[in-house]
Amino acid sequence: MYRQNYLAHAISRASDGRGEATFLIRHPDGVRMSYADFWVGAERMAAVLVAAGLAPGDRVAVQAPKTVAMLQLYVGCVMAGGVFLPLNTAYTPTEVAYFLGDASPHVFVCDPEGLEALTPVASDAGVAKIFTLGAGEVGTLVAAQADQEAGFTPVARGVDDLAAILYTSGTTGRSKGAMLTHGALASNSEVLRDTWRFTSEDVLIHALPIFHTHGLFVATNVTLMAGGSCIFMAGFDAGAIMGYMPQATALMGVPTFYTRLLEQDGLGAAAGGMRLFVSGSAPLLAETHDRWRAVTGHAILERYGMTETNMNTSNPYDGDRRAGTVGFPLPGVALKVCDPESGAELAQGEIGVIEVRGPNVFAGYWQMPEKTAEELREDGWFITGDLGRIDADGYVQIVGRGKDLIITGGFNVYPKEVEGLIDDLPGVLESAVIGVPHADFGEGVVAVVVPEKGATVTETSVRAGVADSLAKFKQPKRVLVLDALPRNTMGKVQKNVLREEYADLLS
Ligand code: AMP
Repeated sequence: MYRQNYLAHAISRASDGRGEATFLIRHPDGVRMSYADFWVGAERMAAVLVAAGLAPGDRVAVQAPKTVAMLQLYVGCVMAGGVFLPLNTAYTPTEVAYFLGDASPHVFVCDPEGLEALTPVASDAGVAKIFTLGAGEVGTLVAAQADQEAGFTPVARGVDDLAAILYTSGTTGRSKGAMLTHGALASNSEVLRDTWRFTSEDVLIHALPIFHTHGLFVATNVTLMAGGSCIFMAGFDAGAIMGYMPQATALMGVPTFYTRLLEQDGLGAAAGGMRLFVSGSAPLLAETHDRWRAVTGHAILERYGMTETNMNTSNPYDGDRRAGTVGFPLPGVALKVCDPESGAELAQGEIGVIEVRGPNVFAGYWQMPEKTAEELREDGWFITGDLGRIDADGYVQIVGRGKDLIITGGFNVYPKEVEGLIDDLPGVLESAVIGVPHADFGEGVVAVVVPEKGATVTETSVRAGVADSLAKFKQPKRVLVLDALPRNTMGKVQKNVLREEYADLLS
C-alpha cells in the first residue's frame, strides 16, 4: 500500500492484505481496532490536514494525551507529506511557545484543557489552524476526522524527505529539533524488527509516551512493520501490565517500568510466558537486570539510542545479554569511541565519546546549521556526547554523559535550562543543578543555590519560583542553599563534587 510515500509504504506493507488482523487493543476498555480501521483513520487524518491547507514539508505540532487518534495523526501527517512534531505533554505554555516559534508549524493540536492558554501562543507563532485532541478520543480533530472520506492517496515522499522533527533539550538551554527522514525511521524500525524477531504473532504492551522516539518510533513502527498487535495504554500502570502479560509477548520500557514491576506480587508467573523485555532511554542498573532474571527467568534486552539517531546498539537476541552494557551496533550502524579533544578513534577498551554513523542518523538540527556542524561531521559521523567504551567482546558500555544530562523517569533534563530560571529569581546569585540517584526515577533533579549577599533564599521560595515555568519532571525535588559552589582552578563549577556529596539526598 501507499507505494509513493516511503515511510507509509514501509509501515503498511506487513498488514497489506491482512486488514482484518488486530492492530491494537485499547486499554482500559478492551476495544479492538483492526489494521483496516487504523489505516482508514490515518487516511482521514491526512485528509483533515490537507483540507487545513497543509503543504508537503509543513510541520504539524502536537501536544496531546496519548490516544489512538494521535497515532493516526502521526501516520496521517506522514501520508499528507507533513512533518510530525510531537511535544512532551508536561511542557508548560512558556515552553511550548519556544517550540512553536522555532518550528513555525502550519497546524497545532492541543488538549482541549490547554486550548485557552495555548491559543495566543499558537497565534503568536503564526499557526494557521488549531485543533483539539483530548483523552478519550475527544476534540475538534476527531470531529474533523469523522467528516472526511477514507481513500486518501498519500503525497509522494522519498527516502530523504523529512517525516518528523523531535526536539531534544540543548546543553546551552536551547532545544534543538532533530530532523528525521522517512529513510532513517523506516530503516531503523526494520532493523529492530528483524533483530528482535518481531512477527505478526507478537502482542506488544505499548505503555510508553508517543511524543518520544522510544514509544513513537521504536514501539509503534516496529509493531506496524511486523504486522503485529499492541495493547495500547495511555500511560504506565504496573497493575494493568501485570494483567496483560499473559496475553502479550513483548514489553518495551524505560528502567523505571522494570523497577516498578518488580514491586508487584506474582510477577514471575505473569511474565513467564512473555517472549521479550526491552529496556532503554536511560541506564538499566545491573541490580535490576539481575533481579528481573531471578524473578521472571528473562534477561532484559538493553539497547541504546537517542532522538537524533534512533537506535544504535542492542544486546543480542540470541546469546548473552549482558547487564551494564548496551550490546553491539545494530546491522548497518557503525560505532566508534573517540578522543573528546582530537576526535581520533581510540583503541578498544578506552573511554571516550561515542560517535555513530548509519542510515538511522538524523539529517541535522532544524534551522541550526552551526549546531549541526558541531555535532554531525561532514562524513556522516554523529558525535553523541555520550561517554563509553567497547569491551574485549565488542559489547558497548555507556559510562557517563558528557553533557551532564539528567535522566529522570526516562525524561531528559538539561541542567542549564533549570539553572537559568533559578538564577533569574530575586535574591539568587547562582545555582548548579545536578542529578542524584533516585530509587524510583533513576535520577532526580536537585538544585544547589547560592543567595546574593544579604538576601534570603529558601528551598520553598526557589521551588515556588520555578513551578509555573517548568514541567514537573524538571522541577528540583530538593533545593540546597549554600554560601558558595565548589570550583576548580579554572573557575568551573565541580558538579561531580556536588553529585558525590549529595548522592544520598533522594534515597
Ligand atoms: P533521548 O534523546 O531522549 O532518547 O536521550 C538519549 C540519551 O539517553 C542518550 O544520549 C544516552 O545518554 C541515554 N541513553 C539512552 N539509552 C541508554 C542506555 N541503554 N543506557 C544508558 N544511557 C542511555
